[in-house]
Amino acid sequence: MSTIADRIAHVRARIAEAAEQAGRRPADITLVTVTKTHPPERIAEAIAAGSLDLGENRVQEAIAKIATLAADHSRLRWHLIGHLQRNKARVAVESFDLIHSVDSLRLAETLNRHASDLGRRLAILLQLNVSGEASKEGFDLSGGLRNHAALDQFLPQIEAILALPALEICGLMTIAPIVEDLDAARPVFAELRTVRDELARRYPNADWHALSMGMTDDFPAAIAEGATIVRVGRAIFGERP
Ligand SMILES: *Cc1c(COP(=O)(O)O)cnc(C)c1O
Repeated sequence: MSTIADRIAHVRARIAEAAEQAGRRPADITLVTVTKTHPPERIAEAIAAGSLDLGENRVQEAIAKIATLAADHSRLRWHLIGHLQRNKARVAVESFDLIHSVDSLRLAETLNRHASDLGRRLAILLQLNVSGEASKEGFDLSGGLRNHAALDQFLPQIEAILALPALEICGLMTIAPIVEDLDAARPVFAELRTVRDELARRYPNADWHALSMGMTDDFPAAIAEGATIVRVGRAIFGERP
């Protein structure tokens, strides 16, 4: 049985390989180790192996772990990658360093209010659904820039979010549909990058550099299409219970 440290080393090697094949620098890709469902003792093994960026998808589950692990580790960065309900927004602002899953203007406004109250600026990514899969959360932009009706709905919301003073947009996030073939997800990742490039062109004063895309089954394809953050759980911890 390989250890968590072995598997992290293996994932890092695959990230480096995918980056080099794409003519990119491995250092420009952040590995977020997805720790959902796993207890603090196993997460501590990942931290010992150098994983300082940790991803959780539920606020309630995360806060206990964050509190436990904070005692021994001061330099962790916690990423919220799952859907956030507005009634958990305050705790999320207090607990996370980057929220990947901002999927509505209303949620952004709520986060802005809590971040202002707490006297901090909050880094966020906008979650987009560019594949049109019904089950996926995120701003609906299936078909990407060719979907003019969706774009007409989307852009005014983005402008409203850009005007919220306590939020700092850093880029976009998506979840690709589950597919058998690794390369089948690639057009979805390419679409997200295309949308990002268009937003950067329209709104050059904001920072759009981050593309959070790619998980255990598809992160090399995401890196080939420009991912700057990959979110990997099973390749590190094994199948979830
Ligand atoms: C669980 C999860 C991941 C990690 O998925 P794996 O297949 O375990 O790598 C990544 N992103 C999101 C949003 C998740 O919920």
